[in-house]
Amino acid sequence: MPNKYIRYSDKLDGSVGYALLKSDSLVKLSGPPWTQTEEISSEPLTGDRFELLAPVQPSKIVCIGLNYHAHVEASYSAEEAPERPLIFLKPPSSIIGPGDKIQHPKESERVDYEAELGVVIGQQTKNISLDEAVDAVFGYTCVNDVTARDLQKTDGQWSRAKGYDTFCPVGPWIVTGIDYSDLLVEGILNGQVRQSGSTAQMIFPIPFLISYLSSIMTLMPGDLISTGTPAGIAPMISGDVIEVRIDQIGTLRNSIA
Ligand code: MG
Repeated sequence: MPNKYIRYSDKLDGSVGYALLKSDSLVKLSGPPWTQTEEISSEPLTGDRFELLAPVQPSKIVCIGLNYHAHVEASYSAEEAPERPLIFLKPPSSIIGPGDKIQHPKESERVDYEAELGVVIGQQTKNISLDEAVDAVFGYTCVNDVTARDLQKTDGQWSRAKGYDTFCPVGPWIVTGIDYSDLLVEGILNGQVRQSGSTAQMIFPIPFLISYLSSIMTLMPGDLISTGTPAGIAPMISGDVIEVRIDQIGTLRNSIA
């Protein structure tokens, strides 16, 4: 049975931490749920006592570019589908939580949303085989790989275009124990569905990504892998509301400042 894990800020006692979210209660944990943790207390979910924070504090965010055929064809051409995963990093400082505002940098004239499935790593992982790769997964969440599209093109390197503060909304929680292989990933701008693709359409499926990445860099517990975006990316402007909705996970909602 899937579990939902959150990070919270408790307005009653000022505490911040990880918790297991149940339908009518929140079970505070002594640490991140992918470590050995103890249950501290069970609190009723009443009023607006708890604020949801981004559910991860990763040592790194590894992102995959051009991982859905339809997105590659729409943004480039079918011939440009990569032969191996195209990887880049977003800095952990770019993370914001559910409801937080995305800031539009003044240097950019086009800031796009990219709805993506996020994989949260559960254990230290190096050189893991394809067959064992999903054992490294703790759970799944929603990610918006916000991108300053014009700067991505002018720079060639993607670190600036993808790395601004607030450019990595994550959440609203991590769901464990679900099947990653055919989840509908949607990007919804101001209530209109603009992106809709199944994880079954990934060019490189999740086990391959984990095995491949672990041959390059040690994946640490709590690290976040963002697995690429379906077709339908478009810009956002001030006041827009952008949602990333994924089957069996939930909806991550942010607005543009
Ligand atoms: Mg992306």
